[in-house]
Amino acid sequence: EPSVAGVTTEITVNSPEQMRELGRRLAKLLRAGDLVMLTGELGAGKTTMTRGLGEGLGVRGAVTSPTFVIARVHPPLGGGPPLVHVDAYRLGGGLDEMEDLDLDVSLSDSVIVVEWGEGKVEELAEDRLHVLIHRAVGDTTDEVRHVTLTGVGERWATVGLGALSA
Ligand code: ADP
Ligand code: MG
Repeated sequence: EPSVAGVTTEITVNSPEQMRELGRRLAKLLRAGDLVMLTGELGAGKTTMTRGLGEGLGVRGAVTSPTFVIARVHPPLGGGPPLVHVDAYRLGGGLDEMEDLDLDVSLSDSVIVVEWGEGKVEELAEDRLHVLIHRAVGDTTDEVRHVTLTGVGERWATVGLGALSA
C-alpha cells in the first residue's frame, strides 16, 4: 500500500493534561466507524491520549493500558458510539484475530482506537486517522510531545483537523 498520504496537522502539547485535552477535543470530531491508529514509542502518551478520547466520547470505564487484554470495550454513557481500545502489540495481524476476539459490539458502530497497530489493523476501516506522537529528539525528561495527525481517505478530507492546532 502507498505510504500515508492525507491531510496532516501538527500540534505540540506540553503536559499529560494537555494531551488528554487534545484527546477530548479530537473526540468531538469522531463518529461511529472511525479508526484511529496511535503510533509512538513506549511512554510517548498513546494511552494518555486515549483517556482523553474516552472522556470526550463520554464512555464508561477508566481507560488504562490494555496490557493483559488485547481489546477493551467502553460502552457509551450517553448516545454516542462505544470506544474499542486495542493494544495490537501481541496481535498477529489481520482481521481474523480481531474478529476472534469476539467483542460484543460491532466495530462499524464503534470508534476504534489502536495502539501498535501499524501493518495490522488498516483493513478494519476504509479510512483512518494516524496519530503519531514523538518526543523532542534526545529529550527523555521533559513533557513536550509533538503530535502529527494524518487523515487517510475521503472521511478525513473534509474534517477540520486543523482546528485542533488553534
Ligand atoms: P504509551 O501508551 O504511549 O506507552 P502512556 O500514555 O501510557 O504512553 O504514558 C505516557 C507517560 O508519559 C505518562 O507517565 C505521562 O504522565 C508521561 N507524559 C509526560 N508528558 C506527557 C505528555 N505531554 N503527553 C502524554 N504523556 C506525557
Ligand atoms: Mg499505551
